[in-house]
Amino acid sequence: MKILRSLKWKALARSVYYRVRGLLMAGKKRHCPLCGGSFHRFLSKGDPVRAEAMCPRCLSLERHRLLGLFLRRELSLGKNPVSLVHFAPEPGIREHLKALPTLHYVTCDLVPGRGDVAADLARLGFRSETFDMVLCCHVLEHVQDDNTALHELWRILKPGGLAILQVPLSGDITDEDSSITDLEERRRRFGQEDHVRLYGKDFKNRLQNAGFQVEVVEYSKQLDVVEIERSRLMANDDAEDWIFLAHKENS
Ligand SMILES: [Zn+2]
Repeated sequence: MKILRSLKWKALARSVYYRVRGLLMAGKKRHCPLCGGSFHRFLSKGDPVRAEAMCPRCLSLERHRLLGLFLRRELSLGKNPVSLVHFAPEPGIREHLKALPTLHYVTCDLVPGRGDVAADLARLGFRSETFDMVLCCHVLEHVQDDNTALHELWRILKPGGLAILQVPLSGDITDEDSSITDLEERRRRFGQEDHVRLYGKDFKNRLQNAGFQVEVVEYSKQLDVVEIERSRLMANDDAEDWIFLAHKENS
């Protein structure tokens, strides 16, 4: 109980700090579509550092803001009653979705305390055909058995349901070698120490093998360059901003 209370105080203190920082950075040049804040600039973030990558209030990054816009504008989330489970929830997107009154929203994370439910993606405790939608971004590259994880996502979706997925992408073919456990080598080859592969555009085939009908959306190409710059949205011709829409057919 003591630990929980201390975690709650820390979360509250963090939230007050970000709110105050947002107020101090208020301006007109930048707008965050997730928290609705306007700022004179965003914060730099990343390794290597990306200029003006992070919203000072909700901490969203470029890809989070692009995805948030897609969810709201193209899937009309918030307009109809929909159940959605969000894996490894990104804070900016989580707060945005939590505020939608028509959304039955559940968060899930491998680490206890980071979501409503703690679970391994390859062994989910949810009943089959529970959710209308699944949101799973930048998670599968951490999962050893992504084939089982994708079958699990298919299983928990209702017929006619939709999984929205993103992974770091590079090139056409996935680079994968489970014998690589050296952290430096993983970083060099897969982009991060805790990544077990680097997906290529053939990620689509893995989704199809799990039973999904797949659609790829390059959403930044549908947006105005002025909006991309103002909200610092991810816009990349090399597939990094691809959104995979994986449909489970009606039975
Ligand atoms: Zn924000």
